[in-house]
Amino acid sequence: MRYSQLLIPTAKEVPAEAEIPSHQLMIRAGYIRKVASGTYLYLLLGWRSLRKIMEIVRQEMDAAGAQEVSAPILQPHELWQQTGRDVDYGPNLCVFTDRHDRRNALAPTAEEVITSIVAAEVSSYKQLPINLYQINEKFRDEFRPRFGVLRSREFIMKDAYSFDADSPGLDKSYQAMYDAYCRIFERCGVKYVVVQAESGEIGGTGSQEFMVPTPVGEDVIVHTADGSYAANIQKAEVDALPKAAEIPDAPAMEEVHTPDVGTIEAVCEFLKTKPQEMIKTLVYAAGEAEEHVYVALVRGDHDVNEAKLRHFAEPGTQLAGERVIVEMTGAGIGFAGPVGLAGKVTKLVIDHAVAALAIGTTGANKSNYHMRNVVPGRDFPLAGENVFVGDIRNAVEGDTHQGEALTFSRGIEVGHVFKLGTKYSTCLGATFTDEAGVDKPCLMGCYGIGVNRILASAIELYHDKNGIVLPAAIAPFEVIVLGLNNDKPEVVAEAKRIHDELAAAGVDVLLDDRDARPGVKFKDADLIGIPVRIVVGERGMKEGNVEIKRRTDAKPSAIAAGDAVATAMELLRGPAEAAKEQSR
Ligand code: ATP
Ligand code: MG
Repeated sequence: MRYSQLLIPTAKEVPAEAEIPSHQLMIRAGYIRKVASGTYLYLLLGWRSLRKIMEIVRQEMDAAGAQEVSAPILQPHELWQQTGRDVDYGPNLCVFTDRHDRRNALAPTAEEVITSIVAAEVSSYKQLPINLYQINEKFRDEFRPRFGVLRSREFIMKDAYSFDADSPGLDKSYQAMYDAYCRIFERCGVKYVVVQAESGEIGGTGSQEFMVPTPVGEDVIVHTADGSYAANIQKAEVDALPKAAEIPDAPAMEEVHTPDVGTIEAVCEFLKTKPQEMIKTLVYAAGEAEEHVYVALVRGDHDVNEAKLRHFAEPGTQLAGERVIVEMTGAGIGFAGPVGLAGKVTKLVIDHAVAALAIGTTGANKSNYHMRNVVPGRDFPLAGENVFVGDIRNAVEGDTHQGEALTFSRGIEVGHVFKLGTKYSTCLGATFTDEAGVDKPCLMGCYGIGVNRILASAIELYHDKNGIVLPAAIAPFEVIVLGLNNDKPEVVAEAKRIHDELAAAGVDVLLDDRDARPGVKFKDADLIGIPVRIVVGERGMKEGNVEIKRRTDAKPSAIAAGDAVATAMELLRGPAEAAKEQSR
Protein backbone atom coordinates (compact mmCIF):
# COMPACT_ATOMS: atom_id res chain seq x y z
CA MET A 1 0.00 0.00 0.00
CA ARG A 2 1.14 3.54 -0.66
CA TYR A 3 1.42 5.88 2.28
CA SER A 4 0.68 8.94 0.13
CA GLN A 5 -2.82 7.65 -0.55
CA LEU A 6 -3.73 6.73 3.02
CA LEU A 7 -5.11 8.59 6.00
CA ILE A 8 -2.46 8.15 8.70
CA PRO A 9 -2.66 11.35 10.73
CA THR A 10 0.44 11.21 12.94
CA ALA A 11 1.19 13.90 15.50
CA LYS A 12 4.15 15.06 17.56
CA GLU A 13 2.14 16.51 20.42
CA VAL A 14 1.01 14.31 23.25
CA PRO A 15 -2.80 14.63 23.38
CA ALA A 16 -3.90 16.33 26.59
CA GLU A 17 -6.70 13.88 27.38
CA ALA A 18 -4.49 10.78 27.18
CA GLU A 19 -2.90 9.72 30.48
CA ILE A 20 -1.13 6.49 29.59
CA PRO A 21 1.40 5.59 26.86
CA SER A 22 -0.85 3.25 24.85
CA HIS A 23 -3.62 5.86 24.62
CA GLN A 24 -1.19 8.65 23.74
CA LEU A 25 0.57 6.56 21.12
CA MET A 26 -2.57 5.19 19.50
CA ILE A 27 -3.66 8.79 18.88
CA ARG A 28 -0.23 10.09 17.94
CA ALA A 29 0.36 7.21 15.53
CA GLY A 30 -3.01 7.74 13.84
CA TYR A 31 -4.43 4.37 14.96
CA ILE A 32 -7.62 5.82 16.48
CA ARG A 33 -9.64 8.99 16.86
CA LYS A 34 -12.09 9.66 19.66
CA VAL A 35 -15.71 10.10 18.56
CA ALA A 36 -17.30 10.65 21.97
CA SER A 37 -16.61 9.64 25.56
CA GLY A 38 -15.64 5.96 25.42
CA THR A 39 -16.17 5.50 21.68
CA TYR A 40 -13.44 5.48 19.04
CA LEU A 41 -13.03 5.31 15.31
CA TYR A 42 -10.28 2.97 14.23
CA LEU A 43 -8.35 4.34 11.28
CA LEU A 44 -6.51 2.07 8.85
CA LEU A 45 -3.53 1.24 11.07
CA GLY A 46 -5.52 0.50 14.23
CA TRP A 47 -8.12 -1.47 12.35
CA ARG A 48 -5.52 -3.59 10.53
CA SER A 49 -4.00 -4.51 13.90
CA LEU A 50 -7.40 -5.38 15.34
CA ARG A 51 -8.19 -7.52 12.30
CA LYS A 52 -4.98 -9.45 12.80
CA ILE A 53 -5.81 -10.06 16.45
CA MET A 54 -9.34 -11.14 15.52
CA GLU A 55 -7.96 -13.55 12.94
CA ILE A 56 -5.63 -15.17 15.48
CA VAL A 57 -8.54 -15.45 17.93
CA ARG A 58 -10.78 -16.94 15.23
CA GLN A 59 -8.18 -19.52 14.14
CA GLU A 60 -7.55 -20.67 17.68
CA MET A 61 -11.25 -20.85 18.57
CA ASP A 62 -11.96 -22.86 15.42
CA ALA A 63 -9.01 -25.15 16.18
CA ALA A 64 -10.39 -25.70 19.70
CA GLY A 65 -13.67 -26.92 18.24
CA ALA A 66 -15.81 -23.84 18.88
CA GLN A 67 -18.21 -22.75 16.12
CA GLU A 68 -18.52 -19.14 15.04
CA VAL A 69 -21.97 -17.53 15.13
CA SER A 70 -23.17 -13.95 15.14
CA ALA A 71 -25.72 -12.80 17.69
CA PRO A 72 -27.54 -9.46 17.40
CA ILE A 73 -26.30 -6.53 19.42
CA LEU A 74 -29.95 -5.64 20.10
CA GLN A 75 -31.31 -7.94 22.80
CA PRO A 76 -34.75 -8.19 24.41
CA HIS A 77 -34.53 -6.64 27.89
CA GLU A 78 -36.96 -9.31 29.07
CA LEU A 79 -34.21 -11.94 28.81
CA TRP A 80 -32.11 -9.92 31.23
CA GLN A 81 -35.02 -9.75 33.65
CA GLN A 82 -35.42 -13.51 33.43
CA THR A 83 -31.90 -14.07 34.76
CA GLY A 84 -31.98 -11.09 37.12
CA ARG A 85 -28.92 -9.62 35.50
CA ASP A 86 -30.71 -6.38 34.63
CA VAL A 87 -30.17 -5.61 38.34
CA ASP A 88 -26.63 -7.02 38.54
CA TYR A 89 -25.37 -4.99 35.57
CA GLY A 90 -27.13 -1.86 36.80
CA PRO A 91 -26.58 1.30 34.76
CA ASN A 92 -23.79 -0.37 32.75
CA LEU A 93 -26.58 -2.07 30.79
CA CYS A 94 -27.66 0.28 28.00
CA VAL A 95 -31.47 0.00 27.78
CA PHE A 96 -33.89 1.82 25.52
CA THR A 97 -37.52 1.61 24.48
CA ASP A 98 -38.29 1.23 20.80
CA ARG A 99 -41.19 2.68 18.75
CA HIS A 100 -43.41 -0.26 19.71
CA ASP A 101 -42.75 0.28 23.39
CA ARG A 102 -40.52 -2.77 23.65
CA ARG A 103 -37.52 -2.57 25.93
CA ASN A 104 -34.18 -3.49 24.40
CA ALA A 105 -30.68 -3.89 25.80
CA LEU A 106 -27.45 -3.36 23.90
CA ALA A 107 -25.34 -6.49 24.35
CA PRO A 108 -22.69 -6.14 27.08
CA THR A 109 -22.26 -9.94 26.70
CA ALA A 110 -24.56 -12.66 25.36
CA GLU A 111 -25.19 -15.46 27.89
CA GLU A 112 -28.95 -14.84 27.79
CA VAL A 113 -29.33 -14.71 24.01
CA ILE A 114 -27.13 -17.72 23.29
CA THR A 115 -28.62 -19.82 26.10
CA SER A 116 -32.18 -19.08 24.98
CA ILE A 117 -31.39 -20.27 21.45
CA VAL A 118 -29.68 -23.41 22.75
CA ALA A 119 -32.74 -23.98 24.97
CA ALA A 120 -34.90 -24.00 21.83
CA GLU A 121 -32.60 -26.08 19.65
CA VAL A 122 -30.90 -28.64 21.91
CA SER A 123 -32.90 -31.38 23.58
CA SER A 124 -30.71 -34.48 23.72
CA TYR A 125 -27.34 -35.43 25.17
CA LYS A 126 -26.47 -36.52 21.64
CA GLN A 127 -26.28 -32.84 20.61
CA LEU A 128 -23.73 -32.05 23.33
CA PRO A 129 -21.11 -30.77 23.84
CA ILE A 130 -21.27 -27.58 21.81
CA ASN A 131 -19.41 -24.32 22.01
CA LEU A 132 -20.71 -21.23 20.19
CA TYR A 133 -18.59 -18.10 19.82
CA GLN A 134 -18.71 -14.72 18.14
CA ILE A 135 -16.44 -11.71 17.70
CA ASN A 136 -18.39 -8.47 17.73
CA GLU A 137 -19.26 -5.16 19.34
CA LYS A 138 -20.31 -5.00 22.96
CA PHE A 139 -21.73 -2.00 24.82
CA ARG A 140 -21.29 -1.13 28.46
CA ASP A 141 -22.21 2.28 29.76
CA GLU A 142 -19.08 2.41 31.90
CA PHE A 143 -19.27 5.01 34.67
CA ARG A 144 -15.79 6.22 33.87
CA PRO A 145 -14.52 5.37 30.39
CA ARG A 146 -10.77 5.89 30.53
CA PHE A 147 -7.38 4.97 29.18
CA GLY A 148 -8.55 5.09 25.57
CA VAL A 149 -9.73 1.74 24.27
CA LEU A 150 -8.77 -0.07 27.49
CA ARG A 151 -12.02 0.93 29.14
CA SER A 152 -14.40 2.15 26.51
CA ARG A 153 -18.18 2.02 26.26
CA GLU A 154 -18.17 0.20 22.95
CA PHE A 155 -15.57 -2.51 22.32
CA ILE A 156 -14.97 -5.73 20.46
CA MET A 157 -15.23 -8.89 22.49
CA LYS A 158 -14.82 -12.48 21.51
CA ASP A 159 -17.32 -14.34 23.63
CA ALA A 160 -17.80 -18.10 23.66
CA TYR A 161 -20.36 -20.27 25.44
CA SER A 162 -19.95 -24.00 26.05
CA PHE A 163 -22.75 -26.45 26.85
CA ASP A 164 -21.99 -29.86 28.32
CA ALA A 165 -23.92 -32.81 29.67
CA ASP A 166 -21.81 -33.38 32.77
CA SER A 167 -19.11 -31.99 34.96
CA PRO A 168 -16.13 -33.81 33.37
CA GLY A 169 -17.42 -32.49 30.04
CA LEU A 170 -17.46 -28.91 31.36
CA ASP A 171 -13.94 -29.38 32.73
CA LYS A 172 -12.80 -30.48 29.29
CA SER A 173 -14.51 -27.57 27.48
CA TYR A 174 -13.05 -25.13 29.98
CA GLN A 175 -9.55 -26.56 29.59
CA ALA A 176 -9.82 -26.37 25.79
CA MET A 177 -10.66 -22.67 26.05
CA TYR A 178 -7.92 -22.06 28.61
CA ASP A 179 -5.36 -23.68 26.29
CA ALA A 180 -6.68 -21.73 23.29
CA TYR A 181 -6.31 -18.49 25.26
CA CYS A 182 -2.68 -19.31 26.08
CA ARG A 183 -2.01 -19.88 22.38
CA ILE A 184 -3.83 -16.67 21.40
CA PHE A 185 -1.77 -14.48 23.73
CA GLU A 186 1.45 -16.25 22.76
CA ARG A 187 0.73 -15.77 19.05
CA CYS A 188 -0.16 -12.11 19.60
CA GLY A 189 3.20 -11.77 21.32
CA VAL A 190 1.83 -10.38 24.59
CA LYS A 191 3.13 -11.38 28.01
CA TYR A 192 0.40 -12.62 30.34
CA VAL A 193 -0.26 -14.19 33.71
CA VAL A 194 -3.29 -16.24 34.73
CA VAL A 195 -4.94 -15.42 38.04
CA GLN A 196 -7.82 -16.84 40.08
CA ALA A 197 -10.82 -14.55 39.82
CA GLU A 198 -14.26 -13.89 41.18
CA SER A 199 -17.01 -14.53 38.73
CA GLY A 200 -18.66 -11.12 39.26
CA GLU A 201 -21.95 -10.30 37.53
CA ILE A 202 -21.76 -13.35 35.32
CA GLY A 203 -22.09 -15.67 38.33
CA GLY A 204 -20.89 -19.24 38.55
CA THR A 205 -18.51 -21.63 40.21
CA GLY A 206 -14.96 -20.95 39.01
CA SER A 207 -13.08 -18.43 36.97
CA GLN A 208 -9.64 -17.31 35.90
CA GLU A 209 -8.43 -14.10 34.31
CA PHE A 210 -5.66 -13.55 31.80
CA MET A 211 -3.77 -10.42 32.78
CA VAL A 212 -1.12 -8.44 30.96
CA PRO A 213 1.29 -7.30 33.67
CA THR A 214 1.84 -3.55 33.43
CA PRO A 215 1.92 -0.77 36.01
CA VAL A 216 -0.95 1.11 34.29
CA GLY A 217 -3.35 -1.83 34.74
CA GLU A 218 -6.51 -1.14 36.72
CA ASP A 219 -6.45 -4.61 38.29
CA VAL A 220 -4.34 -5.56 41.28
CA ILE A 221 -2.68 -8.97 41.06
CA VAL A 222 -1.77 -10.66 44.32
CA HIS A 223 0.80 -13.45 44.16
CA THR A 224 3.36 -15.51 46.03
CA ALA A 225 7.02 -15.02 45.13
CA ASP A 226 7.21 -18.24 43.09
CA GLY A 227 3.91 -17.46 41.32
CA SER A 228 2.36 -20.75 42.52
CA TYR A 229 -0.58 -18.71 43.80
CA ALA A 230 -1.88 -15.71 41.86
CA ALA A 231 -5.28 -14.12 42.19
CA ASN A 232 -6.87 -10.78 41.55
CA ILE A 233 -7.47 -8.60 44.58
CA GLN A 234 -11.21 -9.41 44.65
CA LYS A 235 -10.42 -13.08 45.02
CA ALA A 236 -7.03 -13.29 46.82
CA GLU A 237 -7.50 -15.33 49.97
CA VAL A 238 -5.42 -14.37 53.00
CA ASP A 239 -4.48 -16.44 56.02
CA ALA A 240 -6.10 -15.53 59.33
CA LEU A 241 -3.80 -13.46 61.53
CA PRO A 242 -2.59 -15.05 64.78
CA LYS A 243 -4.80 -14.19 67.72
CA ALA A 244 -3.25 -11.46 69.87
CA ALA A 245 -2.41 -12.51 73.41
CA GLU A 246 -5.33 -11.86 75.72
CA ILE A 247 -4.90 -8.90 78.05
CA PRO A 248 -5.42 -10.13 81.58
CA ASP A 249 -8.00 -8.02 83.40
CA ALA A 250 -8.67 -5.93 80.32
CA PRO A 251 -10.33 -2.67 81.34
CA ALA A 252 -14.07 -2.34 80.83
CA MET A 253 -15.48 -0.62 77.74
CA GLU A 254 -15.62 3.11 77.97
CA GLU A 255 -17.58 5.68 75.95
CA VAL A 256 -15.52 8.66 74.83
CA HIS A 257 -16.75 11.92 73.39
CA THR A 258 -15.31 12.38 69.88
CA PRO A 259 -16.94 15.45 68.37
CA ASP A 260 -16.16 16.46 64.77
CA VAL A 261 -13.85 13.55 64.02
CA GLY A 262 -15.01 12.01 60.78
CA THR A 263 -12.22 9.82 59.42
CA ILE A 264 -10.37 6.89 60.98
CA GLU A 265 -7.20 9.01 60.94
CA ALA A 266 -8.91 11.84 62.78
CA VAL A 267 -10.32 9.47 65.42
CA CYS A 268 -6.89 7.88 65.89
CA GLU A 269 -5.24 11.25 66.26
CA PHE A 270 -7.88 12.35 68.77
CA LEU A 271 -7.81 9.16 70.83
CA LYS A 272 -4.08 8.50 70.43
CA THR A 273 -4.65 5.09 68.92
CA LYS A 274 -3.68 3.36 65.63
CA PRO A 275 -5.89 2.34 62.68
CA GLN A 276 -4.77 -1.31 63.34
CA GLU A 277 -6.57 -1.08 66.69
CA MET A 278 -9.77 0.42 65.30
CA ILE A 279 -12.77 -1.67 64.31
CA LYS A 280 -14.62 -0.28 61.27
CA THR A 281 -18.31 -1.12 61.08
CA LEU A 282 -19.84 -1.09 57.61
CA VAL A 283 -23.53 -1.53 57.09
CA TYR A 284 -24.85 -3.31 53.98
CA ALA A 285 -28.42 -4.08 53.07
CA ALA A 286 -30.49 -6.08 50.62
CA GLY A 287 -34.18 -6.40 49.82
CA GLU A 288 -36.64 -3.91 48.37
CA ALA A 289 -36.88 -1.84 51.56
CA GLU A 290 -33.33 -2.71 52.63
CA GLU A 291 -34.91 -4.93 55.25
CA HIS A 292 -32.01 -7.40 55.35
CA VAL A 293 -29.02 -5.84 57.03
CA TYR A 294 -25.50 -7.24 56.89
CA VAL A 295 -22.90 -5.65 59.11
CA ALA A 296 -19.24 -6.14 58.24
CA LEU A 297 -16.38 -5.52 60.68
CA VAL A 298 -12.83 -4.91 59.48
CA ARG A 299 -9.79 -3.33 61.07
CA GLY A 300 -9.32 0.42 60.62
CA ASP A 301 -6.35 -0.14 58.30
CA HIS A 302 -8.19 -2.70 56.13
CA ASP A 303 -10.82 -2.43 53.39
CA VAL A 304 -13.93 -4.55 53.07
CA ASN A 305 -13.78 -6.78 50.01
CA GLU A 306 -17.37 -6.76 48.77
CA ALA A 307 -16.85 -9.81 46.56
CA LYS A 308 -15.78 -11.81 49.62
CA LEU A 309 -18.55 -10.32 51.75
CA ARG A 310 -21.08 -11.45 49.15
CA HIS A 311 -20.30 -15.06 50.07
CA PHE A 312 -21.99 -14.33 53.41
CA ALA A 313 -24.80 -12.17 52.03
CA GLU A 314 -27.62 -12.44 49.52
CA PRO A 315 -27.52 -11.27 45.88
CA GLY A 316 -28.04 -7.54 45.48
CA THR A 317 -26.43 -6.66 48.84
CA GLN A 318 -25.03 -3.13 48.74
CA LEU A 319 -23.86 -0.43 51.13
CA ALA A 320 -26.94 0.61 53.11
CA GLY A 321 -28.52 4.03 52.84
CA GLU A 322 -28.40 6.54 55.70
CA ARG A 323 -31.93 5.69 56.86
CA VAL A 324 -31.03 2.06 57.59
CA ILE A 325 -27.85 3.00 59.44
CA VAL A 326 -29.53 5.63 61.57
CA GLU A 327 -32.49 3.37 62.40
CA MET A 328 -30.25 0.49 63.38
CA THR A 329 -27.59 2.30 65.37
CA GLY A 330 -29.59 5.24 66.65
CA ALA A 331 -26.62 7.40 65.67
CA GLY A 332 -25.51 9.50 62.72
CA ILE A 333 -23.20 8.16 60.00
CA GLY A 334 -19.68 7.40 61.22
CA PHE A 335 -20.51 6.15 64.72
CA ALA A 336 -21.70 2.58 64.10
CA GLY A 337 -20.11 -0.13 66.26
CA PRO A 338 -20.67 -3.85 66.89
CA VAL A 339 -21.61 -3.65 70.56
CA GLY A 340 -25.24 -4.71 70.92
CA LEU A 341 -25.81 -5.03 67.15
CA ALA A 342 -25.89 -8.79 66.63
CA GLY A 343 -29.52 -9.12 67.70
CA LYS A 344 -30.66 -6.39 65.31
CA VAL A 345 -29.11 -7.57 62.04
CA THR A 346 -29.54 -10.37 59.52
CA LYS A 347 -25.87 -11.24 59.85
CA LEU A 348 -22.83 -9.88 61.62
CA VAL A 349 -19.76 -10.78 59.56
CA ILE A 350 -16.43 -10.28 61.29
CA ASP A 351 -13.10 -10.30 59.51
CA HIS A 352 -10.47 -12.68 60.91
CA ALA A 353 -8.18 -9.76 61.69
CA VAL A 354 -10.83 -8.16 63.91
CA ALA A 355 -11.46 -11.44 65.71
CA ALA A 356 -7.69 -11.65 66.31
CA LEU A 357 -7.56 -8.28 68.14
CA ALA A 358 -7.06 -8.31 71.90
CA ILE A 359 -8.73 -4.95 72.38
CA GLY A 360 -9.87 -2.12 70.13
CA THR A 361 -11.81 1.08 69.59
CA THR A 362 -15.01 1.42 67.59
CA GLY A 363 -18.17 3.49 67.11
CA ALA A 364 -20.49 3.72 70.15
CA ASN A 365 -23.81 3.72 68.23
CA LYS A 366 -24.29 7.22 69.60
CA SER A 367 -23.58 10.38 67.61
CA ASN A 368 -20.19 11.93 68.43
CA TYR A 369 -19.10 9.04 70.63
CA HIS A 370 -16.68 6.16 70.26
CA MET A 371 -16.20 3.17 72.51
CA ARG A 372 -12.74 2.13 73.64
CA ASN A 373 -11.41 -0.98 75.40
CA VAL A 374 -13.73 -3.13 73.30
CA VAL A 375 -12.72 -6.80 73.57
CA PRO A 376 -13.95 -9.03 70.71
CA GLY A 377 -15.72 -12.05 72.18
CA ARG A 378 -16.37 -10.26 75.46
CA ASP A 379 -18.16 -7.11 74.28
CA PHE A 380 -19.61 -8.45 71.04
CA PRO A 381 -20.03 -12.08 70.00
CA LEU A 382 -17.60 -13.96 67.74
CA ALA A 383 -19.99 -16.86 67.27
CA GLY A 384 -23.73 -17.41 67.14
CA GLU A 385 -26.57 -18.21 64.80
CA ASN A 386 -26.13 -15.05 62.72
CA VAL A 387 -22.50 -14.27 63.58
CA PHE A 388 -19.70 -15.33 61.24
CA VAL A 389 -15.94 -14.89 61.29
CA GLY A 390 -14.18 -15.10 57.93
CA ASP A 391 -11.99 -13.51 55.28
CA ILE A 392 -13.87 -10.40 54.08
CA ARG A 393 -11.10 -7.90 53.43
CA ASN A 394 -8.61 -7.06 50.70
CA ALA A 395 -5.15 -8.57 51.03
CA VAL A 396 -2.48 -6.06 52.07
CA GLU A 397 1.32 -5.96 52.18
CA GLY A 398 2.46 -8.36 54.92
CA ASP A 399 -0.38 -10.86 54.41
CA THR A 400 0.26 -14.53 53.64
CA HIS A 401 -1.55 -17.21 51.65
CA GLN A 402 -1.03 -20.72 53.04
CA GLY A 403 2.03 -19.40 54.81
CA GLU A 404 3.64 -17.78 51.75
CA ALA A 405 4.17 -14.01 51.69
CA LEU A 406 1.99 -12.13 49.20
CA THR A 407 3.24 -9.46 46.83
CA PHE A 408 1.29 -7.04 44.67
CA SER A 409 1.50 -5.89 41.06
CA ARG A 410 -0.81 -4.45 38.43
CA GLY A 411 -2.33 -5.88 35.29
CA ILE A 412 -4.83 -5.36 32.48
CA GLU A 413 -7.52 -8.03 32.22
CA VAL A 414 -7.49 -9.17 28.59
CA GLY A 415 -9.39 -12.42 28.95
CA HIS A 416 -11.65 -14.22 31.35
CA VAL A 417 -12.81 -17.85 31.49
CA PHE A 418 -15.72 -18.96 33.70
CA LYS A 419 -17.34 -22.18 34.74
CA LEU A 420 -20.95 -21.10 34.96
CA GLY A 421 -22.59 -24.37 35.97
CA THR A 422 -26.38 -24.33 35.57
CA LYS A 423 -27.17 -20.73 36.50
CA TYR A 424 -28.31 -19.69 33.02
CA SER A 425 -29.48 -23.06 31.74
CA THR A 426 -31.86 -23.39 34.69
CA CYS A 427 -33.23 -19.83 34.36
CA LEU A 428 -33.71 -20.07 30.61
CA GLY A 429 -34.67 -23.74 30.26
CA ALA A 430 -31.58 -25.00 28.41
CA THR A 431 -32.14 -28.63 29.34
CA PHE A 432 -31.47 -31.93 27.62
CA THR A 433 -32.54 -35.53 28.06
CA ASP A 434 -29.72 -37.81 29.17
CA GLU A 435 -29.14 -41.44 28.16
CA ALA A 436 -31.49 -42.64 30.87
CA GLY A 437 -34.22 -40.30 29.63
CA VAL A 438 -33.83 -37.84 32.53
CA ASP A 439 -34.19 -34.11 31.88
CA LYS A 440 -31.19 -32.09 33.08
CA PRO A 441 -29.92 -28.51 32.73
CA CYS A 442 -26.81 -28.07 30.53
CA LEU A 443 -23.56 -27.29 32.32
CA MET A 444 -22.22 -24.07 30.88
CA GLY A 445 -18.96 -22.22 30.60
CA CYS A 446 -18.33 -18.77 29.12
CA TYR A 447 -15.13 -17.27 27.82
CA GLY A 448 -14.38 -13.64 26.92
CA ILE A 449 -11.48 -11.83 25.28
CA GLY A 450 -11.15 -8.07 24.91
CA VAL A 451 -9.77 -7.62 21.39
CA ASN A 452 -9.10 -3.88 21.74
CA ARG A 453 -7.47 -4.46 25.10
CA ILE A 454 -5.00 -6.90 23.53
CA LEU A 455 -3.84 -4.17 21.14
CA ALA A 456 -3.62 -1.44 23.78
CA SER A 457 -1.89 -3.65 26.31
CA ALA A 458 0.62 -4.83 23.68
CA ILE A 459 1.45 -1.16 23.07
CA GLU A 460 1.65 -0.62 26.81
CA LEU A 461 4.20 -3.47 27.01
CA TYR A 462 6.11 -2.61 23.86
CA HIS A 463 6.93 1.01 23.14
CA ASP A 464 9.89 3.34 23.46
CA LYS A 465 10.47 7.07 23.37
CA ASN A 466 10.06 7.09 19.59
CA GLY A 467 6.75 5.26 19.45
CA ILE A 468 5.04 1.92 19.16
CA VAL A 469 7.06 -1.35 18.90
CA LEU A 470 4.40 -3.96 18.09
CA PRO A 471 5.10 -7.69 17.69
CA ALA A 472 5.02 -8.54 13.97
CA ALA A 473 1.96 -10.80 14.35
CA ILE A 474 -0.31 -7.89 15.26
CA ALA A 475 1.46 -4.89 13.71
CA PRO A 476 -0.62 -3.14 11.00
CA PHE A 477 2.16 -3.73 8.47
CA GLU A 478 5.16 -6.01 8.75
CA VAL A 479 7.56 -3.97 6.63
CA ILE A 480 7.77 -0.29 5.72
CA VAL A 481 9.84 0.73 2.70
CA LEU A 482 11.04 4.32 2.75
CA GLY A 483 11.91 5.90 -0.57
CA LEU A 484 13.91 8.95 0.49
CA ASN A 485 14.33 10.94 -2.74
CA ASN A 486 11.20 11.27 -4.83
CA ASP A 487 13.15 13.37 -7.36
CA LYS A 488 15.46 10.44 -8.19
CA PRO A 489 13.75 7.95 -10.52
CA GLU A 490 16.15 5.10 -9.59
CA VAL A 491 15.29 5.50 -5.89
CA VAL A 492 11.55 5.61 -6.58
CA ALA A 493 11.78 2.58 -8.86
CA GLU A 494 13.86 0.51 -6.44
CA ALA A 495 11.62 1.28 -3.45
CA LYS A 496 8.60 0.29 -5.54
CA ARG A 497 10.27 -2.93 -6.69
CA ILE A 498 11.07 -4.00 -3.12
CA HIS A 499 7.53 -3.13 -2.03
CA ASP A 500 5.93 -5.03 -4.89
CA GLU A 501 8.08 -8.13 -4.42
CA LEU A 502 7.39 -8.24 -0.71
CA ALA A 503 3.66 -7.81 -1.35
CA ALA A 504 3.76 -10.60 -3.94
CA ALA A 505 5.45 -12.84 -1.33
CA GLY A 506 2.51 -12.28 1.01
CA VAL A 507 4.15 -9.72 3.30
CA ASP A 508 2.07 -6.80 4.61
CA VAL A 509 4.14 -3.93 3.31
CA LEU A 510 3.72 -0.18 3.28
CA LEU A 511 5.59 2.06 0.85
CA ASP A 512 6.33 5.52 2.18
CA ASP A 513 6.22 7.38 -1.13
CA ARG A 514 5.24 10.75 0.33
CA ASP A 515 6.89 13.97 -0.74
CA ALA A 516 8.23 14.51 2.75
CA ARG A 517 11.63 15.13 4.29
CA PRO A 518 13.60 11.98 5.26
CA GLY A 519 13.45 13.03 8.93
CA VAL A 520 9.65 13.01 8.83
CA LYS A 521 9.57 9.57 7.23
CA PHE A 522 12.01 8.10 9.76
CA LYS A 523 10.04 9.55 12.68
CA ASP A 524 6.71 8.29 11.38
CA ALA A 525 8.07 4.81 10.66
CA ASP A 526 9.20 4.56 14.29
CA LEU A 527 6.02 6.10 15.68
CA ILE A 528 3.60 3.78 13.90
CA GLY A 529 5.66 0.79 15.00
CA ILE A 530 6.32 -1.26 11.87
CA PRO A 531 8.66 -4.17 12.80
CA VAL A 532 11.03 -3.99 9.77
CA ARG A 533 12.15 -0.85 7.96
CA ILE A 534 13.93 -0.74 4.61
CA VAL A 535 15.40 2.58 3.50
CA VAL A 536 16.14 3.27 -0.18
CA GLY A 537 18.22 6.43 -0.59
CA GLU A 538 20.24 8.12 -3.30
CA ARG A 539 23.56 7.64 -1.47
CA GLY A 540 23.15 3.93 -0.81
CA MET A 541 21.86 3.28 -4.31
CA LYS A 542 25.14 4.55 -5.76
CA GLU A 543 26.72 1.42 -4.28
CA GLY A 544 23.65 -0.73 -4.97
CA ASN A 545 22.77 -0.79 -1.27
CA VAL A 546 19.71 -0.23 0.89
CA GLU A 547 19.49 -0.11 4.67
CA ILE A 548 17.48 -2.51 6.76
CA LYS A 549 16.63 -2.34 10.45
CA ARG A 550 14.25 -3.96 12.86
CA ARG A 551 12.21 -1.54 14.93
CA THR A 552 14.05 -2.94 17.96
CA ASP A 553 17.58 -2.53 16.49
CA ALA A 554 19.63 0.52 17.46
CA LYS A 555 21.29 0.85 14.04
CA PRO A 556 20.50 -0.13 10.46
CA SER A 557 22.69 -2.44 8.36
CA ALA A 558 23.59 -1.81 4.73
CA ILE A 559 22.74 -4.73 2.44
CA ALA A 560 22.70 -5.23 -1.33
CA ALA A 561 19.38 -3.94 -2.69
CA GLY A 562 18.86 -7.30 -4.36
CA ASP A 563 18.89 -9.03 -0.97
CA ALA A 564 16.34 -6.71 0.64
CA VAL A 565 13.30 -8.91 0.12
CA ALA A 566 14.99 -12.11 1.34
CA THR A 567 16.52 -10.37 4.35
CA ALA A 568 13.22 -8.78 5.37
CA MET A 569 11.46 -12.14 5.10
CA GLU A 570 14.15 -13.76 7.20
CA LEU A 571 13.86 -11.11 9.90
CA LEU A 572 10.10 -11.61 9.99
CA ARG A 573 9.67 -15.33 9.56
CA GLY A 574 13.04 -16.88 10.45
CA PRO A 575 15.34 -18.48 7.83
CA ALA A 576 13.39 -21.72 7.20
CA GLU A 577 9.98 -20.11 6.70
CA ALA A 578 11.49 -17.35 4.55
CA ALA A 579 13.11 -19.87 2.21
CA LYS A 580 9.82 -21.75 1.88
CA GLU A 581 7.86 -18.63 0.98
CA GLN A 582 10.50 -17.46 -1.49
CA SER A 583 10.38 -20.74 -3.37
CA ARG A 584 6.57 -20.61 -3.75
P1 ATP B 1 -13.52 -5.14 33.93
O1 ATP B 1 -13.39 -5.85 35.24
O2 ATP B 1 -12.22 -4.63 33.41
O3 ATP B 1 -14.62 -4.13 33.91
P2 ATP B 1 -15.10 -7.33 33.15
O4 ATP B 1 -14.55 -8.37 34.07
O5 ATP B 1 -16.36 -6.68 33.49
O6 ATP B 1 -13.97 -6.24 32.88
P3 ATP B 1 -15.83 -9.39 31.28
O7 ATP B 1 -17.29 -9.37 31.49
O8 ATP B 1 -15.04 -10.48 31.88
O9 ATP B 1 -15.21 -7.97 31.69
O10 ATP B 1 -15.58 -9.26 29.70
C1 ATP B 1 -14.64 -10.04 28.96
C2 ATP B 1 -13.49 -9.20 28.44
O11 ATP B 1 -13.95 -8.04 27.74
C3 ATP B 1 -12.61 -8.65 29.54
O12 ATP B 1 -11.68 -9.62 29.97
C4 ATP B 1 -11.95 -7.46 28.85
O13 ATP B 1 -10.81 -7.88 28.14
C5 ATP B 1 -13.02 -6.98 27.88
N1 ATP B 1 -13.69 -5.76 28.39
C6 ATP B 1 -14.60 -5.69 29.38
N2 ATP B 1 -15.01 -4.42 29.57
C7 ATP B 1 -14.34 -3.67 28.67
C8 ATP B 1 -14.34 -2.26 28.36
N3 ATP B 1 -15.12 -1.40 29.01
N4 ATP B 1 -13.53 -1.82 27.35
C9 ATP B 1 -12.74 -2.69 26.68
N5 ATP B 1 -12.71 -4.01 26.94
C10 ATP B 1 -13.50 -4.51 27.91
MG1 MG C 1 -13.93 -10.17 33.73
